[in-house]
Order: sequence, then structure tokens, then C-alpha cells
Amino acid sequence: MQLPEDVAPAASTVAGLDEALTHCRACPRLVAWREEAARVKRAAFADWDYWGRPVAGFGPADARLLIVGLAPAAHGGNRTGRMFTGDRSGDVLVRALHDIGLASQPTSVRRDDCLELLGVRFTAPVHCAPPANKPTPAERDTCRPWLVRELQLMRPTLGALVVLGAFGWQALFPAVAAAGWAVPRPRPVFGHGVRTDLPPAPSAPASLRALPVFGCFHVSQQNTFTGRLTPAMLRGVLAEAARAAGLTTTA
Ligand code: SF4
Repeated sequence: MQLPEDVAPAASTVAGLDEALTHCRACPRLVAWREEAARVKRAAFADWDYWGRPVAGFGPADARLLIVGLAPAAHGGNRTGRMFTGDRSGDVLVRALHDIGLASQPTSVRRDDCLELLGVRFTAPVHCAPPANKPTPAERDTCRPWLVRELQLMRPTLGALVVLGAFGWQALFPAVAAAGWAVPRPRPVFGHGVRTDLPPAPSAPASLRALPVFGCFHVSQQNTFTGRLTPAMLRGVLAEAARAAGLTTTA
């Protein structure tokens, strides 16, 4: 079996990376879970042919703003095959992006729904649906080379990151460090609206710019149904990060 640490560094384009990723079977527990969910299905989606594979990032390869989540949902991205598509988290995130002019439509339902992200890309530190939305530290670390390579390939245009939730925040810093940015010690603490600017590492190419990283509560139902994360709070962080990345918004 080929491992991400062997395959990901060989990808020369984001599209190639996305394609290679969908064949990954490096985490036995997650492979079993994603395929079990695809076989058993949720009753409401009984007529769906579930994706049941790793879910690649979604959005243009030359995006300026990268939004980093946690992992696909068993009946969301693992069903539709597209990140933040077909579940409540995607509904909330895409509506907020559309509200500020960074998504072509306010809904994200299925892969052929014509949604376009405008200067924005979604990704995650873990690309397969985990039981109870909780990947293990070992699974997170096994999946990291995909994110490292994605960050490296996006370096020419990448202007800012938004990280949704504490898991993604913890997972991100080793990846950005491996992709060429210097991470302060101690690491910045996660919080909603927190911003930290990572300078290029001394060994990085001279062309690499500092990377602003923004924390945002995750768009999970647990946060959005309880009001811990309101649409206005989400729009606020996304708009600030978009401006830092050099994108024009309607906010
Ligand atoms: Fe591969 Fe990542 Fe899925 Fe593990 S979580 S099987 S490393 S794509």
C-alpha cells in the first residue's frame, strides 16, 4: 500500500494531488468507516450512490484564501464526494461565503450543482470521514502530507488561511511549518477571531510571503444551532481573512 508521505510529495499540480488523494487507503479504521457508511447509507439518502472515498479539497488551485475544516461528514462529503457539500455545515459556510461575494450561489448540495468558490478553496487535515467526527492523532498525522503538499502547491497565490475549530488549528501548524512558514513557540492558542501572522521560514524561497492565519469556531451544528457561532460572526472572520488575502468582498 502506498502511503501519503510517498505519494503526495510527487504531485506537481493541485489537480494531480486531488486525484491521487482519492485513491488513498492508508488509515484502516477510516477506510472501513467511510465504506461502511457508503454501504449502509442514511435512510434519507437511500437512493444516493455514496462517494465512500477520500474527499479532496474543493475550489480553484490558485485560490488566495484556504479554509481548513476537520474531516468530511459520513453522510455529507462522504456521500456527495465534495467537501462541505450535502450537510448543514456546508450550508452555513457556503451561505456565508455567498453573502460576502465569495461563492457563486448560497447552497452546496451535490457535485454537479454548479457551485463555484471565488478565490477560495476548502480543505481539511483529514480527508476521510471518521467515526463520531473524531480522527485519532495517528490518522491526523498519516494524512498530513496531503495538506503539506497542497499548501506548497498553493504558495504562489495563497494569502490567508481560516481554520475552523480547534482540531484543525492543532493539525495545521505542523503542516504550515513543513510547507515553509515559521511557527512561533509556544504555538498560538485557538480562539474565534484570533489572527496570527506566520513569517516565511529562513529556508523558504525569497518570494514566500507571510501568511495570516485566522481562527473561527467550526461551522458544526453543535456551534451553529446553539448560537455559539452566528452567521454574523462567521461572515466577520471570513471577510477579514479575505481582505488579508487580497480578495474583494461585498461585506
Ligand atoms: Fe488517506 Fe487521509 Fe483517508 Fe487516511 S484519512 S486514508 S491518509 S486520505
